[in-house]
Amino acid sequence: MLTPMGEFDLIARYFKRPAKRAVLGVGDDCALLQPAEGMQLAVSSDMLVEGRHFFSDVDPFTLGHKALAVNLSDLAACGAQPLAFTLALALPRIDEAWLEAFSRGMFALADAHGCELVGGDTTQGPLNICITVFGEIPRGQALLRSGACVGDDVYVSGTLGEARLALDALREHAPLPDELLALARARLEMPTPRVALGQALRGIATSAIDVSDGLLGDLGHILKASGVGARIDTSVAINLIATSAQIARAERLFSYGKMLSYVLAGGDDYELAFTAPVPARAAIQAAALQAQTAVTRIGVIEQPLGLRLVDASGHAVPGRYASFDHFA
Ligand code: ADP
Ligand code: MG
Repeated sequence: MLTPMGEFDLIARYFKRPAKRAVLGVGDDCALLQPAEGMQLAVSSDMLVEGRHFFSDVDPFTLGHKALAVNLSDLAACGAQPLAFTLALALPRIDEAWLEAFSRGMFALADAHGCELVGGDTTQGPLNICITVFGEIPRGQALLRSGACVGDDVYVSGTLGEARLALDALREHAPLPDELLALARARLEMPTPRVALGQALRGIATSAIDVSDGLLGDLGHILKASGVGARIDTSVAINLIATSAQIARAERLFSYGKMLSYVLAGGDDYELAFTAPVPARAAIQAAALQAQTAVTRIGVIEQPLGLRLVDASGHAVPGRYASFDHFA
């Protein structure tokens, strides 16, 4: 029970909009979705908990964006086209300014992807946001974690490491140049789900995953599911972090080792890591161009299980890069 505005007024004011693609949206006991002929539904949920996934005082507009973005990122990793989502929300109290900004941030991203809110649940409690997304994929064409083959190239989209750099800077009040802090913070608070790239990779990539817990950890999921290993060139991977961060490193604002850990195990990046056969290199570049998302080839899939980090001359790079684990 939420008063004095009331649960149903709140839903009507901030979350109910006329359904466009869904057969039935907010307002009944269930929403109704009608996948197109020959399409499969892709479904995924992600929960954001105050104090664990975001700072209590975070801008609610960016929080609305991120809550949906992390879910769209899962659809992207499967190559699905977003269709609809539900929102389960626990709120400590009704704060209309907060709700207005939160819903605006969420709907801005939703509209950009033609993904509509079709239902949910609203309750009083510690601030907690759980979104479930529904997407469409032509039958049998979903990108899975299990398809990587020995000899495949390993790729990653966009840039890596800035979100964790921002998190460290905000937590430890570490000084960063204003411009770099703004960029890193935007990456942490307003991630870009690689939805177009995921769809462009259908039929080309052999496996894919979105990087939410850190590159090596998430790549590890592909390796395990595919029963293969990989060699990653750290001299290439290190350049995946934004140029302004590389400049800050050169000015000794943080060490090379720290920067490598941001790239390899930072987390909260929401880029795609994927594999594709060598003959598909041109097709991968075409997909990247079509999706207007840069991709970088960082390594190769090998038979021996596990991950091997090497430098430019192929020598082993020491170091363990644990990825994020809520219960570790
Ligand atoms: P029920 O009691 O049948 O579960 P509710 O009373 O919780 O339904 O919700 C009423 C309607 O409002 C339902 O259609 C539900 O999907 C929708 N709804 C509730 N909370 C939200 C929300 N945060 N965002 C969108 N729709 C919501
Ligand atoms: Mg309910």
